[in-house]
Amino acid sequence: MTTKSTLKEIEESKEETILKKSGMVALIGRANVGKSTLLNALVGTKLAIASPKPQTTRHVIQGVLNTQDGQAVFIDTPGYFQEKHSPLTPKLNQKIFETIHGMDLILYVTDPTRQIGSEERFMLSVLRKTKSPKILIINKIDLSEKELPFLEDYRALSEEFDQIIEISALKSKNIKSLIPLIFEYLKQGEPLYPPDSITNINQKFFISELIREKLFNTLGDEVPYTTNVEVENIKDKKDILVIEAVVLTTAERYRRMIIGRGGRKIKEMGSTARKELEVIMNRKVYLDLRVEIDKNWERRFE
Ligand code: GDP
Ligand code: MG
Repeated sequence: MTTKSTLKEIEESKEETILKKSGMVALIGRANVGKSTLLNALVGTKLAIASPKPQTTRHVIQGVLNTQDGQAVFIDTPGYFQEKHSPLTPKLNQKIFETIHGMDLILYVTDPTRQIGSEERFMLSVLRKTKSPKILIINKIDLSEKELPFLEDYRALSEEFDQIIEISALKSKNIKSLIPLIFEYLKQGEPLYPPDSITNINQKFFISELIREKLFNTLGDEVPYTTNVEVENIKDKKDILVIEAVVLTTAERYRRMIIGRGGRKIKEMGSTARKELEVIMNRKVYLDLRVEIDKNWERRFE
């Protein structure tokens, strides 16, 4: 092998690493099939938020997965998918179609502990009309054969899909095989979000920025520039996400101003921030917001 060809190879491999993939991936399936658990297994944390880009604001971004292959942005399906007795009206059909439309990939999650029902059949009929690639995911295979009486019924659906994979989202079984499969169906493209936007530090930063924004919206120019917001803790309880944050300011008079008479201002800010966080994260949030005097403020800049 000549030096020249070796160099060429290096150039080529460089190019390969630059040409990454990206795309929007929809997680679809009825309630309790394990969509949230799967998202958690894929993205590595339950709290995965990213500020929506203009072209994606229609969707709630549930998580961003960054690998060497590129970036996959996951979106959840609208809530009415999850209603057991949702009226299967043409309007609903349209909504679901709109969500699915334009997705680069659809992950259809199923639960073989339960029978294929009317809801499932309806979703399948909608999926049939889309041109996006679809992966059939059979979840909960950590359970025993006896607990999965409908496994074969779901396997029989594989013909309608581009791929089929059996996983356990809960036990992280086969997730390592699912990830490259996802990227197989995404096209080359720039990441939709900054690749480091879902680390824990950035989640805290994102939340503190959101609270800060509310602070400035409520108080305007009255807020001294020395005021800061810190997210101290994010506790993931089963039904609710508890966020502890503190507003740090430099003097008692500022502290009183931020709190407002009878705590009115801080309550208003907290409530607005909480509501927005709930929409972004698609779950219940408890925001514990305190205001404190930061005596070390100046030292922070030393
Ligand atoms: P979603 O409604 O589709 O988001 O479903 P969830 O992720 O909330 O999961 C519903 C229930 O199924 C929860 O009790 C999960 O713990 C359980 N679950 C999810 N994935 C698995 C799995 O792979 N195996 C088992 N045994 N249970 C699972
Ligand atoms: Mg869920």
